[in-house]
Formats: sequence, structure tokens, C-alpha cells
Amino acid sequence: MSATVQTEKREFQTEVKQLLHLMVHSLYSNKEIFLRELISNASDAADKLKYTALQDDNLYQGDSNLAIHIEADKEAGTLTIRDNGIGMNQEEVIANLGTIARSGTAEFLKNLSGDDKKDSSLIGQFGVGFYSAFIVADRVEVFTRKAGTDASAGVYWASTGDGEFDLGETELEQRGTRIVLHLRDDEKEFLDAWKVKGLVRKYSDHIAVPVLVKDEKTVPAEGDDAENKEPTTEITWDQANTATAIWTRSKGDISDEEYQEFYRHISHDFGPASTWSHNRVEGSLDYTSLLFVPEKAPFDMFNREQSHGLKLYVQRVFIMDEAEQFMPMYLRFIKGVIDSNDLSLNISREILQQDKTVSALKAALSKRALSMLDKLAKSDAEKYQSFWDNFGNVLKEGPAEDAKSSDAIAKLLRFATTHNDNAVQNVSLSDYVERMSAEQNEIYYIAADSHQNALGSPHLEIFRKKGIEVLLLSDRIDDWLMSHLNEFDGKPLRDIAKGELDLGKLEDETEKLQQKETDKAFEALTLKIAEVLKDDVESVRTTHRLTDSPACLVVQNHDMGAQMRRILEAAGQSLPDTKPVLEINPEHPLVQRLNSESNESRSADLISVIHEQARLAGGDALKDAAGYVRKINKLLLELSSTEK
Ligand code: ADP
Ligand code: MG
Repeated sequence: MSATVQTEKREFQTEVKQLLHLMVHSLYSNKEIFLRELISNASDAADKLKYTALQDDNLYQGDSNLAIHIEADKEAGTLTIRDNGIGMNQEEVIANLGTIARSGTAEFLKNLSGDDKKDSSLIGQFGVGFYSAFIVADRVEVFTRKAGTDASAGVYWASTGDGEFDLGETELEQRGTRIVLHLRDDEKEFLDAWKVKGLVRKYSDHIAVPVLVKDEKTVPAEGDDAENKEPTTEITWDQANTATAIWTRSKGDISDEEYQEFYRHISHDFGPASTWSHNRVEGSLDYTSLLFVPEKAPFDMFNREQSHGLKLYVQRVFIMDEAEQFMPMYLRFIKGVIDSNDLSLNISREILQQDKTVSALKAALSKRALSMLDKLAKSDAEKYQSFWDNFGNVLKEGPAEDAKSSDAIAKLLRFATTHNDNAVQNVSLSDYVERMSAEQNEIYYIAADSHQNALGSPHLEIFRKKGIEVLLLSDRIDDWLMSHLNEFDGKPLRDIAKGELDLGKLEDETEKLQQKETDKAFEALTLKIAEVLKDDVESVRTTHRLTDSPACLVVQNHDMGAQMRRILEAAGQSLPDTKPVLEINPEHPLVQRLNSESNESRSADLISVIHEQARLAGGDALKDAAGYVRKINKLLLELSSTEK
């Protein structure tokens, strides 16, 4: 329509073209979601107007009954969705309906493979928004006018969804946005008012403004000569949704489906929420919160710059999206709404940062989120495991960021351990403590750069022999986590690659006496090795933690763990120059051989080889790879010549 409109052609951003193509081809099986998306936008527009009008009442221009109207025109084959919300000016139309603003989405699209099949399963990971109109329409027109401008400031936008859109100026009597969908021939079912009402109830019941659907009823004529009169058509605007904000309703009246739909509305997540927690709190703080844990991690979750946070309402008025001051970083995957009665309607992002009520709310909401996770862990182990696999590494940032919640977070952690024979992180610290023997006072762990390397570490040998469980840590963040955790349930957490090993009561007295004897016999050797390796190791001592390996390197008690050190070094940080201790295993044939070796040059080679091997087994690179290979080959050749 609007033949009077002068338009010019504009190109969509490349990413939009890609998205449109994918959308039309891959979301076809779930096409009805377009209505949910357009109603969601209309409702956001109403929220934004209400918020802006707090400062300037005139914006309503005499029309403050905010509503969404949906109307079908069977003859024209169009479905129109109209709101009297904030509207858009021309600049906003170009930015919002011609590009993809959310940086994560653009980034995501850059990573698409170009293989439609593969990519369609990926598209389900993020909200589809306005462009979903093209799933059912082969032409979409938008008429919009920003609140506070004159009728002449209307903007017209139209597109068939293939690369270009038309843009022009137009007269619009009404503020807000009207979207006209020219339905494809096989999508005419959406012209049916009954069908549309059903979809509104299904997907948009939680929308806080009324959604009114135009219906036409045929009314039979009444009176004496009714039979001779034509029936009349009566037009009604039927409200199809409940139109109260979901979090203001009582829990018992809200179905799981309603919670899930609301989650989709606020999260832009295509998948469901894994669990939620809905609370009304009165007292020193007065608020309602509705928090959700997504089932799947978004593709950009590890980007700490990515926007996150809760939707903030004050006294049921929408204030802002992504208010990140209400959730700590380590809970940035939590989505939801906070509706406060304590904050001022005029609150701004800047004020949020220093407001005392806000930090009290943040503490309260973190607690809620953690207890929601605890509940999930207790009620549904399988779901919790999937949560952990998706978000565990983010939660691990917790003890460092929020020391006060450290105990609550510790309960939620899951680890791979020597008790399992796989790399799955599914052992809680309570599971571990339950399996501890009465003699064990500490929780043992080892950190390496991969599960395989943790599992293969020589430090584990004595623990295997004695059947003591050890946590196997291999995520980059683990050393950082452990350095902030210190203990669980009164039991210190102990890095078994650090300091002298004291198994306490786990070793018996005769064992200890015997060890002292052997140690004596190797005293001279430890001194000799210490002299040879004086540039590389702090000192040399005998150990009984090894059963299969000749030697290992141990970080001193107060030094940084080896794993953490490697990470910081890789990040280019300069670190204090500390040397590890070399521990040798007097029971090992190679060490015994070394102890009795009289050939000085061979003795020096053996020391070097044992030291380099200890570096390798601890996850470090060789110091002198070529020298190592040369020495090993020399020793091998000597071996083969003696065997001949
Ligand atoms: P999202 O809603 O996630 O931002 P959409 O693709 O659904 O993404 O919409 C893009 C943007 O277009 C919105 O953020 C909003 O600024 C604008 N927009 C869409 N529909 C409307 C509307 N009915 N009224 C005002 N602005 C709208
Ligand atoms: Mg949207």
C-alpha cells in the first residue's frame, strides 16, 4: 500500500542476508513463532514508552492506553500487528531492521559453515527476532512513528526479504509501529482469528500489555421478520492474553509452560530453561525476583564482555535490560527479572553502581541463584550434570569473586577424580569426603594441563598404592579456583605436587622408620645431584611418594602451582624466579643404579636424563631437547652393546 510514499532502496547488512536465508529455510517447521517475536517487540516498545514517559508525560500525546492490536484482512491476505509504543525514527529503523545489532549474533553468523543442514541446528541457539516475519510472509511492511514526533515524521520500510529493503517517509496519524505481513499463499491459516488467539495464549500470555485480536461474528437478525433480514457482522476486539506481568502472579497459578514462554521472551534463548526460582520478598528489602538457569550455554558465554544481567523493573515499570549490577560475573548465565519496590523510578545505570540497596539485592539474588542450583543438584542429578557441563567453568570463578559465598559454591562444584575411570566431572566434594577413611584429614588434588597428564602424574603413585582418592583438575581455571577455596567441610584442600608429602596417619610407624634408613643410604647421592643441577632445582631429597617413577619435581609450599605458573607465563606475565625441589625414588632401579655408578660421565648423563624426565612427567617441556635425545641414544647404544 501507500503508493504516495517515495522510497529508496537500501541493502541489508551481509549478516542479515545470511540470517534471512537460514531462517526461512530452517525454522519452517516451527513457523508460528513469528507471532511471538513480533508481539515481544511490540511489548518491549510499550515498556520503553512507559519508561521514557516517566520523565516526560507529553510523550503519550493523549493516548496512554497501551495495547497491541492484531488484525487480519482476508481479502488482501495480510496480518497486521500494531502497537502504540515508542516507535522508531528513520535512523533507528535502518539500524534495527537492516543490521544485526547484537554483536554476539553477528559473531555467531561469521562462524557459520555455509552448510544449511549444520547451520540450521545452530540457529536454534539464539533468538530470531523481527526477521522471523519472513518465515511466513513474502513481503513485510513497517509503518512507524517515534513517540513525541509529528504525524509527518512517519517512516515506511518494506522488504521481500532478499537482500534489499525500501525506505521512505510517510504521514502517520498514530504513534508506534504497525507491521503488515503479506502472508505466503500456503500460510493463510494465520488469517484465522481463532488460530491467532490460540497462538497468543500459547506464546504471549505473559505479555503485560493487552493483546487484542480482531474477530468478526455473524449475528442472526432478531425480531418478528428475522427470517427475511440479512444477518449482521459484528466486529469485536477480543483480549487474548492475561496481560499481567507473570512475576506478579502467584506461583501456584503459573504453569511450567508459562514460565518457559516467559523465559524465552526475556532470554532470546531458543531452548528451554533448566530450572527457575520465583520469589516475593517483603522486609528490609521489598522485591520480586524470577530467575532462570538456561539449559544450554550461549556460544559467547566465556566472553566476559558479553552483555548479561537481569531485566530491571521498579514498581512494575520496566527500567532497563541487562542490569548487570544485580548478578555477579560468575553467575552471568542466570537470566531473569528483578522488580524492586525500594529503588527510585529515576534510577540510572550510573546510580546502580553505587547504590546500597542494589548491592544488598545483588547479595540476596546471588544467594537465591546458588540455592536454586543446590536444589537442582539434589532433585535431579542428570539435569544438574548437564548444567555443570555447560556452566561449571563459569561457576568456578565464584570463590575468587565472592568469598562470602565460597561455602555455598563449594557444594556445587564437580570434579573428575581417580575414583572414576573417565574424565567426567561428576564428583562433589561431599562425595569425596564421604569416601575418605578415618585417617585421612585432607582433600587431595592435582592440577595439570590435561586430564591425561593429571592422570599420568608420578605424584599419584603413592595415592594409587594406598587407595586414596585424588581430584584430577585440568581446566585452566582450576588452580585459581583452588587457591581461593582452601578448605571444604573443615578439611584443607591439598595440592599433592606441592611441598613435602606428609600423609599423616595414612602411613604407619614401621614404614616411616624404614624410609629413614633408606634415606641415609642415599644422602651422598642427593648432595651430588643437587650440585649438578644447582641452576635448575632448589634442593634434592628422597621421597616415598613414587612407586613407578624414578623422580618428580615438587613446587615449594608457598610457591605458585605449576599449572598456574604456566598459564601466567603464557600470558606474558613476569614471575618471581622460584625453583622446584627434585625428589628421587630410592626404590627405583635407575636411582639405585645411579647410586652405585662409578663412571662419572655416565653418572652425569643419568642425572640429566632423570631430571628431564621429571620435567616431562610434570607437564613441562624439556630444557634441552637435543641434549636429551643424544644422552638417551648414547645410553641405549651402551645397553645394546653390552647385550651382544
Ligand atoms: P531484539 O528484540 O532481540 O532486539 P529484534 O530483531 O526482535 O531483536 O528487533 C530488533 C530491534 O528492532 C529491537 O531491538 C527494537 O529496537 C526494534 N523494534 C522491533 N520491533 C519494534 C516495535 N514494534 N517498536 C519499536 N521498535 C521495534
Ligand atoms: Mg525481539
